[in-house]
Amino acid sequence: MKIRVGHLYPEYLNIYADRGNIAVFSRRAALRGHELAVAAISLGDDVRPGEHDLFYIGGGQDREQALIAPDLVTKGPAIEAAVADGAALLAVCGGYQLLGRGYLGRHGDAMPGIGLFPHETVAGEKRMIGDVLLESELVPGERRTIAGFENHAGRTRLDPGAEPLGRVVAGFGNDGESGHEGVRVGRALGPYLHGPLLPRNPWLADWLLSQALAHATGGDPPELEPLPDRLEGEAHAVSAQRARDRGGRF
Ligand code: GLN
Repeated sequence: MKIRVGHLYPEYLNIYADRGNIAVFSRRAALRGHELAVAAISLGDDVRPGEHDLFYIGGGQDREQALIAPDLVTKGPAIEAAVADGAALLAVCGGYQLLGRGYLGRHGDAMPGIGLFPHETVAGEKRMIGDVLLESELVPGERRTIAGFENHAGRTRLDPGAEPLGRVVAGFGNDGESGHEGVRVGRALGPYLHGPLLPRNPWLADWLLSQALAHATGGDPPELEPLPDRLEGEAHAVSAQRARDRGGRF
């Protein structure tokens, strides 16, 4: 199958090698005989209905976020419609913030968001930096861990009843207080974690690929053939241990 990926603003939002996440999707798809076709969607480009099985948007500094935020708002309804129609989505850090209702940046710039995610973000004085470990249950009854790295000034507050991506075991997460990290809306996931995220959490890459394949085929998410993931497992263990050692509070 061809998995069509729409990579939003790759030249603006690519902090901490978020592009590595795309490399992971591509390789893991190829190892299962699927082809990843990645198209950049940037300033002034349209998001056309049905054209993408998976969207990706990375992190960035406030300056880059402010540059793309007004353009992203014009794409908001099309992105929401695509997700409602079953497209998968991964939004990391700065992208995650702008997919909520808005982000009030460190220097007072009020950036509009698209409102796909039920949250709002306001930058605080201190940045939240370091390794993070989460527990997540994307598939009911299957509790998994996610390890990554966070570096953000934004404090994200989820609306009451919103589903976080995971529970913080170590690290700050959305706001350093709630014990929540990220958000999930159907097949759309928004974590703060980059580093990049997917090389050390291959199961999460596979979950997203499987949801994207379900969109591409119009069927159920397929089981993907397991891969050895020895190095990936080691990377996960090292990152998880660093997060545990750090504990992760101010
Ligand atoms: N600029 C945003 C913040 O500091 C997002 C940072 C990021 O994407 N790493 O909160």
